[in-house]
Amino acid sequence: MRELRGIGASPGGAAGPVYRLAPPPALPPLAQTVDPEAEKITVRAAVVAVAADLTRRADTTVDAAAAEILRAQVMMAQDETLIDAADIAIDDGADAPHAITDVLAGHRAAFEAAGGYLAERISDLDDLRDRLVAACLGQPMPGVPDLGHPYLLIARDLAPADTAGLEPGLVLGLITAEGGPTSHTAILARTLGIPAVVRCAGILDVTDGALASLDGASGVVVAGVSAETVTAVNAERLAEIERRARSQGPGRTADGHPVALLANIGSVRDLTGEVEGVGLFRTEMLYLDRSDPPSYEEQVAAYRDVFAALPGRKIVVRTLDAGADKPLPFLRLAEEPNPALGIRGLRVARQAPSVLTAQLAAIAAAAAATDADVWVMAPMVATATEAAAFTESCREYGLATAGVMIEVPAAALRADQVLCHADFLSVGTNDLSQYTFAADRMCGDLADLLDPWQPALIALLASCAAAGVEAGKPVGVCGESAADPQFALVLAGLGITSLSMAPRSIPTVRESLAAHTLDECRQIAEAALAAPSPEAARTAAANASRQLRLGDGASVR
Ligand code: PEP
Ligand code: MG
Repeated sequence: MRELRGIGASPGGAAGPVYRLAPPPALPPLAQTVDPEAEKITVRAAVVAVAADLTRRADTTVDAAAAEILRAQVMMAQDETLIDAADIAIDDGADAPHAITDVLAGHRAAFEAAGGYLAERISDLDDLRDRLVAACLGQPMPGVPDLGHPYLLIARDLAPADTAGLEPGLVLGLITAEGGPTSHTAILARTLGIPAVVRCAGILDVTDGALASLDGASGVVVAGVSAETVTAVNAERLAEIERRARSQGPGRTADGHPVALLANIGSVRDLTGEVEGVGLFRTEMLYLDRSDPPSYEEQVAAYRDVFAALPGRKIVVRTLDAGADKPLPFLRLAEEPNPALGIRGLRVARQAPSVLTAQLAAIAAAAAATDADVWVMAPMVATATEAAAFTESCREYGLATAGVMIEVPAAALRADQVLCHADFLSVGTNDLSQYTFAADRMCGDLADLLDPWQPALIALLASCAAAGVEAGKPVGVCGESAADPQFALVLAGLGITSLSMAPRSIPTVRESLAAHTLDECRQIAEAALAAPSPEAARTAAANASRQLRLGDGASVR
């Protein structure tokens, strides 16, 4: 047995055989002697196998968008002109893998030249090429292995394209050698409820099929566990999932102080199970992969779908947060040397005000057509002046509750002034960490600076919460930190009024809050705030929590 340590990125235990993300096939040198008829048969067999595989995946995935992409790939693979062109390339001396590569290189150039929608499909075309070439060479399909049995997926890191359509029933856990706790992999794992460990050095040395276990809270991975351990870990996980599924009701501390537990969603599909409301509706999904903005009607329909699903409940819609880590081609923003510090979030409205006003009009129309309690907020607000301009625009469109995200330290430091204009604040701790510590949120090497337990971040959260208490206005947290059950106690103790997270994280946070009174949360928060480092803050909070549970509240500090 070998113990490896990484960073826990999505809580829960999992165990099973590990299998790695298969790399794209390397094209071997052109075969010396080519039997044209045999090569043509190889191409046809590859097309049949790949089309069957993609069709099966499209039929079984729960992700409707992924299914659509897979079916489009099947149509591309079965296109007669592709097979005819491959035959011609083979007659000219190519073997099957080279014929496919050459033909699809031609398609690729045509897609690129056409621009717009077709240009955006190039990565699907490249994926199809890799699959067909792998099939010709008798190699496993690239990407997430489809083994037909549950396993732990290991990889250097996962790109969003690799993870589209990941099936939580088959991928029991994720372990990556790189990445960080706020990387796409980590956010996706938490959204899907898949336990995950990131930055686990040495994981790529573990051979495919070896049994391993992972603890997504502590970041410990053990390679070489027994089959009995695998059974026991998975039985425990199943029992935990069932127990959580039964946990319901609004978030509140042991003495009944309410802390709303809300969901972070990107579309109506992310609304799984009963929720108190939505604390962050990321609207970027609607704008992704497009060369033109979505029409007014399309936007109204998408917002209405979400609002209608939660009658009478609070839904906080975030206006478009484009730029930097969320590039949106249709905006045609100029290249910038430092995109994360450039035109992004609300700042896009400086250059393209109609994108914001069209969105506000669509949100207002959708809100008017349903009974949901619709709140609107802007991302990346830096000053009280920006907050004033945004809330005024919202009011012009009849949107009654308008707030802002606190993601920039300047806004956190002047939260009281921001609250003179905004009806509420929502702290985006992912970006607030990035900008407070000048540490790119995608940079795994800086994970220690991006740790929400950093005392400087806790201090900024404390000042936002205090401004909210003073103004009598709600201040929530919607960054990934809200999903940490221990950190949730700190946030509640600071005076944060709602916590918004991936729906699957809610039950654990609910349990954690329910086990402590508000006064205990305040003592835990004070202990964390006084600590000099994240490690010390974690330990201080854990000790405070344990001592309080033992009824020893007097000796916490
Ligand atoms: C954040 O920055 O914490 C946040 C919730 O927004 P996003 O992750 O979408 O940038
Ligand atoms: Mg953000």
